[in-house]
Parts: sequence; structure tokens; C-alpha cells
Amino acid sequence: MRACRFIPFNRPWTDGSEIAEVTESIRSGWLTTGPKVRRFEDSVARLVGARNAVAVNSCTAALHLSLAAAGIGPGDEVVTSPYTFAATGEAILYLGARPVFADIDPVTLNLDPEQVRRRIGRRTRALLPVHIAGLPCDMTALRALARRHRLAIIDDAAHALGSAIGRRSIGDGRLADMTCFSFYATKNLTTGEGGMVTCGDARTAERIRRLSLHGLSRDAWKRYARGGTWRYDIVELGFKYNLTDVAAGIGLAQLSKFRAMQRVRRRLAREYTRLLKAEEAFELPAEVPGTTHAWHLYILRMRPRVLRLDRAAFIEALRVRGIGTSVHFMPLHLFSFYRRTFGYRAGSHPHTERESARAISLPLYPGLTRAEQGHVLDVLIDTARRYRR
Ligand SMILES: *Cc1c(COP(=O)(O)O)cnc(C)c1O
Repeated sequence: MRACRFIPFNRPWTDGSEIAEVTESIRSGWLTTGPKVRRFEDSVARLVGARNAVAVNSCTAALHLSLAAAGIGPGDEVVTSPYTFAATGEAILYLGARPVFADIDPVTLNLDPEQVRRRIGRRTRALLPVHIAGLPCDMTALRALARRHRLAIIDDAAHALGSAIGRRSIGDGRLADMTCFSFYATKNLTTGEGGMVTCGDARTAERIRRLSLHGLSRDAWKRYARGGTWRYDIVELGFKYNLTDVAAGIGLAQLSKFRAMQRVRRRLAREYTRLLKAEEAFELPAEVPGTTHAWHLYILRMRPRVLRLDRAAFIEALRVRGIGTSVHFMPLHLFSFYRRTFGYRAGSHPHTERESARAISLPLYPGLTRAEQGHVLDVLIDTARRYRR
């Protein structure tokens, strides 16, 4: 087998265009929220087919403000998935509300609508589905539940820029009330750190915009531009969540090659599936007919009955042979903070716990070369054969 240098789990894909955009921002003297943020918002809105988009400095902030705009507060409950990153639960807790975890569908790793239905109670105000890896959730079923129980839907689309159900993109402003994207360094499109809310309702978007900038009256960000004014009002308690023009410049450069980047992700995912399909040791990621998978992650699941090493040992075996992998995600409800605060115990969400325990995310990014992917596949298959029962 050919020797390869270490293949990291993730590597952001940038070229000269990001550098040019950032340089231009710095030269222009406009570093913080300004014209590039507006252009970036308009471009993302167009990409997903939404009427409104508000850029913020993380998806965590996007979730926080969306929940705030939905009126979530102390005593309220938000039903969400425990198969997710810290941010999803955190944003609910910032508002004094309670995250209520519903178990996932073990095939898709997304919220199981039937489990969601069982967790809806008197205090439930919103649903917060997470499109894991970029595979869209069952929004038809979740919307039916939301309608019946008069709940808002805010989706965590940190993985789902480029995902669609039929011809409708995740974030189009109709599949959910508000959709939250992440532009963190590892995500399908990056601004270093950044996020965005898209939504159908213009007044909601204005509220989120205001909340992202200290609750200042409209367009206060223009106050240092010619024609701006020094006058502003503080209309409500807000936060400091605005995105900078420097970051938006990176985003604009990334957007211009987004379709090409997504094509590479799709090709890499298809290649993993083609060559691992016959491997009994692994279960491959689900795809749902009629939906577009954004392929943020390729989550492989080990079959413990076939392999005689555990997940940690498997990851280590790959690492010593130069392959970086990761785990998405450890069950949120079982972290010590959640156990201590809410009394969750192992066994409460069996599908999440079982699937999480055998999940390994493979390298998947536009900069991964065919040769590198070939090496990842060789090592994976060889390691699986070596440790078969
Ligand atoms: C990355 C991620 C987030 C948080 O995104 P930030 O932009 O880093 O705040 C939220 N949810 C999921 C599922 C994520 O993977």
C-alpha cells in the first residue's frame, strides 16, 4: 500500500478568492457589518430560495435569536434531538426554556416524528429538528405535528446548506419558520465563524436583525456611513451577534464555488458508498429518495457483531495508519451537565445511544483528492478485514 501523509478529518477549502475578498474589505476600511454582509445575505437567500436572511456570527447565535423571535422563554419546552452538537441544546437553555429530547430514527439519525409526538406536552412551544450530516428530516410529518399543536419549527441546518426536499431547499422559509445555518470552519461553506437565519416572514427577520445588534433601532449599523445618523434607540434587550464584512467576504468567495464544492462532496460520498457497500463490517449512511443530501458528513456505523474491536480502538487503528476521523455525535443528554441538570440516564434514548456508540465520520471535503480517498478506503477495508470476528 502506498505511503501517504496524514489525511486529516477535515480541511477547509480556500483559494485566492477568499484572500482577495478579505484584502478588499480591509483596504475599504469597512471591517464590521456593512455592504458585504448585505450581499452575502442576499446571495444565501437566493441560493436557498428564502425571502429573508440575517447573518450572525455563529449558528449558535442564529438558534438563540430564532428561538427568542419565536417567543420561547422560561417554562417553555422545545422538542429536539439528542443526536446533535452542544449548540442545539444550549440555545434553548439560554432562554430559560427546557430542551426535551426525542429519540431518533436509527436509520436516518434524524428525529423520529412518532417520538416527537410523544414528547409534545402542555408546555411545548417549538420543534427543533437537526438535519444530521445534511440528510433532510421528515419535514412533512414534523410540520403536521407543528400545525396540530400550534408549534414553531426552527431547524438546525448547520449541516444542511445544499440540502433539499424535492425542489425545495432547506431554509426556503416554508419548510420551517426559521432555519439556522453554520459557517464554522468545517462546514460545507465557511466564513471562519459565522451563521445565518433564513425565514419567510419579513418582520421576524427584522426582529432577529435587531436582536443581533443590541436591540438597536433599525439600520443602526449604517450610523458610521455617509447619510447615516448618530441617533438610535434601544428598543429591546439584544445581543452582540452581528457578522463582520471581513467574514462575509470569505463567505462570498465560498459561495461562488459552492455548487462545485457540493459536486465534489457528492462524488466522494458516492465513491465511499460504492466501495464500502460490500463490507459487512459497516452500515452506510441512509439516503431518502426525493431528497438531496448535502453530504456535510459521511457517518459510517460499525457492526459490532462483525468487528472484534470497539469504536475507540478502530479510530486509533485508523489514526496510526494516517487517517483522521471524528465522531458525530455523542448523545447530548448523557453529558455530565445534562445528566446533573435534567437527570437523564443511559437507556433513556436507546436509538441515539446505540447509533452514536458505533458512528465514525470519514474525511469528506472538497480538498480531499481521489488518491487520498483511495488511501482512506484501502486502510478502512484492510482494517475491517484484519479485525473481523
Ligand atoms: C456546527 C454545529 C452547530 C453550531 O454551529 P456554530 O456556527 O459553530 O455555532 C450547531 N448544530 C450542529 C448540528 C452543528 O454541527
